[in-house]
Amino acid sequence: MHQTRRIALLISCAILCLAAFAPVATAQQRNPLPVPNIPGYQTLKCDFHTHTVFSDGEVWPTTRVAEAWRDGLDAISITDHAGYNPNKEDVALKLHRPYEIASPAAAQAGIILIPGVEVMEGLIHANLLFVNDPNQFLGLSFLDALRKARAQNAFVVWNHPGWRQTPQWFPIIAQAYDEKLIQGMELVNGSDFYPEAYPWIAEKSWTILCNSDVHSPMPAVYRGGTRPITLVFARTADAAGIREALFARRTAAWANGEVWGTEEHLRALWQGAVKVENSTISLAGSRRSTVLRLTNSSAFRFRYRVRNKPEWLTLREGQVDPLGAFGAQLSASRQAPAGRHNVEIELEVTNFHVAPGRNLQVRLPLVVEVKPEAN
Ligand SMILES: [Zn+2]
Ligand SMILES: [Zn+2]
Repeated sequence: MHQTRRIALLISCAILCLAAFAPVATAQQRNPLPVPNIPGYQTLKCDFHTHTVFSDGEVWPTTRVAEAWRDGLDAISITDHAGYNPNKEDVALKLHRPYEIASPAAAQAGIILIPGVEVMEGLIHANLLFVNDPNQFLGLSFLDALRKARAQNAFVVWNHPGWRQTPQWFPIIAQAYDEKLIQGMELVNGSDFYPEAYPWIAEKSWTILCNSDVHSPMPAVYRGGTRPITLVFARTADAAGIREALFARRTAAWANGEVWGTEEHLRALWQGAVKVENSTISLAGSRRSTVLRLTNSSAFRFRYRVRNKPEWLTLREGQVDPLGAFGAQLSASRQAPAGRHNVEIELEVTNFHVAPGRNLQVRLPLVVEVKPEAN
């Protein structure tokens, strides 16, 4: 091949490659959104509920991938409605297309794409994840759709249990539950949390999900914080790993600066993120006080209050900001016994919820040396 033609071909290839990658790479920066892995598992940041123009959303499927990349996510699912498709005069009613269209962009961006579809009966909606073909669910009743999903070993989530109504044990949900057709529930959808439904997570042995249900373009800044995220503790960072973790109930919800999950998982997140820089401290001088330095290597904010400590020690409530350090004033009262003490301070992390009405409690082991009071 002639040299200049070859160069021209190379350049046009490069332009084509760039164009193909454009939805993800153009004028965007990725939010690293660091979260710690926990022992044995990788922590994946996921949103399993998004819409596109193929149902009642406002964006093209590749846009969902670009947003996920920008927002630091590892996985998404596009779950257009089977049964509410107001754009069908303009956009073909082909519910397998969002996954197909988004797949190449997801592969390039390193985003794991999970096939999904949302089915409904009135205000009762469910997401069917890992289905073979979303089109097969068009025209089915809610329960028949769930039965079909089960036959495909799909993962079924009861969506937004309190959407436009107070969550109740609705007859159709009871029926689905009795037939073992539901495995998870959205404890958080968008900015809504459903306290009335929270006890069902433990009672029904369901998996916690937290999704955006975004219809419009996802804003770069989500109501002042990060977008709703389902944290998945997966053995492998791929679709199979996510699937296994969802069925095994290894997830947590992260939205509005709050986290909901099991005690074990949330404790592991705290331990992976927060370090005490000076765990051996000396309280000396006339004021006998010092600063306890806590650092946070994650994007979580931890708010805490003190639950238990030696009476002679004072530590106020505070918060450790994302990717930050926090200096907590620690002081000894006049009654403090002089000497070297092994002390455990018990903190309640008030925005980390392990059960209805119960927050995560963590311990800070410290060596505190109290010097005799100066005269
Ligand atoms: Zn819905
Ligand atoms: Zn939806």
